[in-house]
Amino acid sequence: MTQVDRQIPKPHLSSHWLKEFLPPQPQQLDTLAHFCIFLARLRCEQSRSNQLHLQESPAGGSDKTDKRSLAHKIIDGRQVARQILAQTRERAGRLIETGHQPKIASVSIGENSGVEIYVRNQQRAATSTGIDFEHIKLSASIGEDGLLEEISRLNAAASVTGIIIQRPVADDISIKKVQATIDPRKDIEGMNPASIGNIVYNDIDLGPCTAIAAVDLLKSTPLEMKGLEVVMIGHSEIVGKPVAFLLMAEGATVTVCHHMTHNLVAHTRRADAVVVAVGKVGLLTGDMIKPGAAIIDVGINRIKKDDGKTAIVGDVDYDSCAPIAGWITPVPGGVGPVTVAALMRNAVVAADRLAARG
Ligand code: NAD
Repeated sequence: MTQVDRQIPKPHLSSHWLKEFLPPQPQQLDTLAHFCIFLARLRCEQSRSNQLHLQESPAGGSDKTDKRSLAHKIIDGRQVARQILAQTRERAGRLIETGHQPKIASVSIGENSGVEIYVRNQQRAATSTGIDFEHIKLSASIGEDGLLEEISRLNAAASVTGIIIQRPVADDISIKKVQATIDPRKDIEGMNPASIGNIVYNDIDLGPCTAIAAVDLLKSTPLEMKGLEVVMIGHSEIVGKPVAFLLMAEGATVTVCHHMTHNLVAHTRRADAVVVAVGKVGLLTGDMIKPGAAIIDVGINRIKKDDGKTAIVGDVDYDSCAPIAGWITPVPGGVGPVTVAALMRNAVVAADRLAARG
């Protein structure tokens, strides 16, 4: 028995706790199906509670258990991002001391208010970590050849150590061609085919930022990654596929679902963790998840509220999932800030590697 096991009493089933999980009408327990769900919730809550006990300092008594589970439910992306940025700032500082200034060149095509917000966030994060940031705004009519020329210029510029292409690009531009043109050594978004290929070999130093952010957030929970049953909803090159590879590298058992998956709920209900990257409001609801599961919401959807204002929401129906999930990321404040932090970390890794090569 470990010291933690000895000092912390194991969680017990208080009458308050039981009331929370029993259906309101006792007669609702009359079907076998309902009773099975009840038992599953019971087991799940106990195992989650045990994990939280082991994670906490031994100072707390058993009466703190309920407060702790509530306090740990929301995965705070801003907090995780702050930690990554602090480490990145230190590493950038060491690089700058040796005369190597990291510099990001960000390229956007045409006018887009959403892109402007991303650029502002990236610029702020870069400045806070000591990375130079130049934003190059190209005309919407630049065309593919014009954009590829601009990328070649940035590839050759000695002062530029990282390149970002802001999405969306115009319809007449192939994003695949653009990504393949970026020098893999400056590919801080991790979208060049070489960078994507590297993650198959567990080389994630310049991995795709959003996928890395989703995995970092899942890893910030006390869940053991080895053997974890994860369902990834969405199989895009930018998120779904890389998340699957990154999690396999961690030892998780990953099922990838997409728009052609039959019976999505059959997969999500047995998952210890669900990562959602689809772009559909309310795709994942509380009745689709296993009690105690970790939910990572990558989706970014702009909706119009009743008062006419716009709001950003994810793919997860937060209100129905939060009471059932063990851990959940909010939108905004979840994957988004960690993606920006991962981008800055990649920028410093790229600058470091370029400096080492001379
Ligand atoms: P995409 O359009 O390339 O892929 C969507 C995926 O969802 C596809 O794999 C498709 O098969 C799947 N899908 C569609 N309908 C489905 C359904 N009914 N059931 C199951 N799967 C379904 O999208 P993407 O580029 O991967 O982005 C997904 C979401 O993540 C978007 O909302 C996007 O804005 C967001 N995103 C967020 C960040 C971030 O930093 N937080 C970064 C990139 C993308």
